[in-house]
Amino acid sequence: MFKAILLDLDDTLLSCSMDIFFPAYIGYLTRYVAHMIPPEVFVPELTRATREMDANDGTGTTNEAVFSASFYPAVGYEPDELVPLFERFYAEEFPKLRALTQRRPEARFLVEWAFERGYQVAIATNPFFPSFPVEQRLEWAGVPVTDFDYALVTSYETMHATKAHPAYYREILARLGRQPHECLMVGDHWDWDVVPPVSLGISAYWIASDGDAPPDDSVPLAGHGTLADFWEWVGQLDP
Ligand SMILES: [Mg+2]
Repeated sequence: MFKAILLDLDDTLLSCSMDIFFPAYIGYLTRYVAHMIPPEVFVPELTRATREMDANDGTGTTNEAVFSASFYPAVGYEPDELVPLFERFYAEEFPKLRALTQRRPEARFLVEWAFERGYQVAIATNPFFPSFPVEQRLEWAGVPVTDFDYALVTSYETMHATKAHPAYYREILARLGRQPHECLMVGDHWDWDVVPPVSLGISAYWIASDGDAPPDDSVPLAGHGTLADFWEWVGQLDP
């Protein structure tokens, strides 16, 4: 049976609609750096560098290195001139975005249960972000790294692909020392959390809103439903 459970974060463990959260995040960040980079430069360059990072397919360097090589020269600064500013942003401003998220009560039960049952637990969040804001969102979700010794929390510093590529999941398998059939991926994003892992033979449980049907019947699913449905389903697994 499964030896490892890979959990997406946003809209899986934590209610955090990217349609609302992401524009707010970009707005806060844009204002925070506006004294150094004008918004009409910052926003398009951030978008472009993020797209380049999303094209990172595991054949080269880390997502952070791809982002840095693309972003910093385009805005005319060295990384060491801007990185401390971004770090301050994540410490001072990013916490304000918590109000746009809601805790899901099942998240902590689920993570506690998985550790008690001896599963390896990995947080498989799309590695666009540094580890600090990922760890903050885990805290918002009630499952902080200070309480749980995760086998892996993916972030842009350490990963060499984004979820758009099966390479992201291959890297997780390598880091966990697991075969695909030993892993279960749980997430809400069909093209990030279901299609790439299933293409490698990793089982996937699709977290959907109540009543949503899978968009493609030809993709085999371990199951689908809300996080509460998953919590019920996973309790019936053999250890
Ligand atoms: Mg998600």
